[in-house]
Amino acid sequence: MQDSESIARREFLKTSVLAGSGIFAGSRLLTDGGHEVQAAAQPAAADTVAIRLRVNGTNYGLRVDPRTSLLDLLREKLDLPGTKKGCNHGQCGACTILVDGRRINSCLGPFAYTRAASQQAAIQAVAQDNTKFLAGGTNLIDLMKENVEQPSRLVDINRLELTRIVEREGGLRLGALAKNSDTANHRLVRERYPLVSQAILAGASPQLRNAATNGGNLMQRTRCYYFYDVTMPCNKRQPGSGCGALEGFSRIHAIFGASRQCIATHPSDMCVALAALEAVVNVEGPQGARTIPFADFHRLPDDTPQIDTNLKRDELITGIDLPAASSVFSSHSYYLKVRDRASYAFALVSVAAALDIRNGVIHQARLAMGGVAHKPWRATAAEQILNRQRAEESVFRRAAEAAMQGAEGTEHNRFKIELGKRALVRALTIAANGRSA
Ligand code: SF4
Repeated sequence: MQDSESIARREFLKTSVLAGSGIFAGSRLLTDGGHEVQAAAQPAAADTVAIRLRVNGTNYGLRVDPRTSLLDLLREKLDLPGTKKGCNHGQCGACTILVDGRRINSCLGPFAYTRAASQQAAIQAVAQDNTKFLAGGTNLIDLMKENVEQPSRLVDINRLELTRIVEREGGLRLGALAKNSDTANHRLVRERYPLVSQAILAGASPQLRNAATNGGNLMQRTRCYYFYDVTMPCNKRQPGSGCGALEGFSRIHAIFGASRQCIATHPSDMCVALAALEAVVNVEGPQGARTIPFADFHRLPDDTPQIDTNLKRDELITGIDLPAASSVFSSHSYYLKVRDRASYAFALVSVAAALDIRNGVIHQARLAMGGVAHKPWRATAAEQILNRQRAEESVFRRAAEAAMQGAEGTEHNRFKIELGKRALVRALTIAANGRSA
């Protein structure tokens, strides 16, 4: 693959349907069944676009929804069932066809692919409309397969020099492209910030952690069922369409900070630990570098649930700083995750508890919760109760009560309020006892 823009698979539909530029006109497409196609694009209409095709010497003119995959077009519009529909996720190979002699999976939606050779090039490239960075791809590619996200262009940033984990000003800088598994197992992370290591290892599966990056972990999107079901209304996926979860099944949804527009939760475990440790996100954009305190990185839904973070569209996350001051919690921190199955699931409730205990007294406490809000939820009222108190269960219970004040559940997720209290007490107890990664 070249470092400059390259033609991605399913380029056929991108060029003939989406772009409407006709730049692919005249290219030939051969299915395994020997179908030969030539295509030319017409100017786009509101919801469908007109295309002309030449398949096995036969010309076709038709209008299609731009989201139509090449596979569906061949099978359903042109009645060419020789190309099979298998997993419909670009994995099984049943939909393989040949375009100008190249094998492609025809079931996926069209997009262009660019590999960035420098941070500057990446920032420039992502400024184009409907363009996304591609790092580990463990969430984005799923979203594309489900038609939840349909970027016209992916900017692959995997070759950028952002993979290192280095000491900086007494703390650690986690490279944005360091893999989650490398971060969790890094000696200095485990020694100084075991909470981060524990949280990462509580998330996903080993395979996913090996692929997922730190920056991508911050950018992952909610796992709300209705967000992934494109037949359902969802203000996050399609602003103004409504919220399927409000009247639907809301077991995994928010009990803090929700709005009438969206009650989704943030799915990350790592981010809960980063919130408790008051990490700082380093970003780079056209105007240069800036930092974002972790508490300000993710947003509550309010009236714009489609916007998850305060990262600008043309900014690149370059690293995450763990402050030196937060290493005081290394001996007394614990990440507790409560989920429906132990092997692989998102948190119903999670707690990142970090205590600085001196002579049995809590000098400073940090608490953050996951699975309860649209962003990692810092329990500052509970922290105030813990500070300067003895590290004992009665204090933990009072803190837990304070932490859950203001929680509002639905009929399906009200259980999270009591679960949250119990999880807080348990996490604080384990942290106080000095358990670490
Ligand atoms: Fe969409 Fe948010 Fe409602 Fe889920 S909770 S359906 S993400 S708007």
